[in-house]
Amino acid sequence: PIIAGNWKMNNTKAQTYALLNDLVPLVADAEAEVVICVPYTSIWAAGEAIKGTNIHLGAENVHWAEKGAFTGEISADMLLEQGVEYVIIGHSERRQYFGETDETVNKRVLTALAKGLKPIICVGETLEEREGGKVEEVLVRQTTEALKGVDKDQLDKIVIAYEPVWAIGTGKTATAQDANDTIAIIRNTIAKLYCPKCAEEKVRIQYGGSLNPKKAKELMSMPQIDGGLIGGASLKAEDQVQRLKSCKIKIKALRKGRFFICNSKLIIIKEDDLKNHLTDTASVYII
Ligand code: PEP
Repeated sequence: PIIAGNWKMNNTKAQTYALLNDLVPLVADAEAEVVICVPYTSIWAAGEAIKGTNIHLGAENVHWAEKGAFTGEISADMLLEQGVEYVIIGHSERRQYFGETDETVNKRVLTALAKGLKPIICVGETLEEREGGKVEEVLVRQTTEALKGVDKDQLDKIVIAYEPVWAIGTGKTATAQDANDTIAIIRNTIAKLYCPKCAEEKVRIQYGGSLNPKKAKELMSMPQIDGGLIGGASLKAEDQVQRLKSCKIKIKALRKGRFFICNSKLIIIKEDDLKNHLTDTASVYII
C-alpha cells in the first residue's frame, strides 16, 4: 500500500523541520510506502529532513513545459533537482479553483512520466455529479483522459487517488463498500484501456477524502483500495495540533503495532490503545 500526505498550503520551513523531525523515527518500520507531498517552499527542508529514511518526497503539482514564461508554475527538472519522486496531479482543489482540466492533467502526467516523476493522479466526482448519477461517466472520462498517451510499461509508475470532491475536507467519508465499488470502475477502465493484469498489478489506487478513525480501517482493508491520500484537516486548528502532540508523545512509547496518521504524520500504535489516546477531532487513519 501507499499512504501519501497532502500538506496542501500548510507548513513553513521551520514547521516542516519540526514535523519531520518527529515523523522520521515513528515511521522507520512502516510497511506501507510513505510519501509526503509538500508545498514548494518546503521541498528543500523536507528533503534534508528525510534524507536516508524510508519516507518518499512528493510535490503538489508540476507544469508540462520544460521551462519558460509560466509565472507561478514549477517544472519537472526543478522538482527532480530537489529530490522529488512523486507529484500530485489534478487535485480537485486545482480543478475547482485554478482551472485545471482533463487536458492539462494529461499534459502534466505525460511530462512527469517522461521526466521520471511518479504521478499521483486525482480523480473524483462532485456531489452534483453523484446525485445526477454520473459517477461512472465522470471517472471513466477523467481516468481515460489523464492516461492518454501513457504507455503500458509506464503504468507501474502511476498512482491514482479516487477522491470524491464531496468528501475532501468535509468530514463526509465514502463508505468502504462505495469507495471499493467506485475504485473498481477506475480499475475496470484501466483494464479496458490496457489489460486486466495491468489494472490489477501495475496501478495502485488510493482512496482520499475525510478518512476518519472509524472508517479508515475498513476502507483500507477493501480489496480494491491500495492506500490513502490524506489531506490537511488535522492541521486546521492549533488546539487540535496540541491535542495530537500529547497523544503522539504517549504513542511514541508504544511498541510497533498498527499505523495511523496523526496530524499528517504516520504513527505506529497498538490497535487496543487507539481509543485511549485519540480524540474524535483527530484525523486518524489506521492502515
Ligand atoms: C486531499 O486533499 O487529498 C484530502 C483527501 O483531504 P482531506 O483528507 O482533508 O479530506
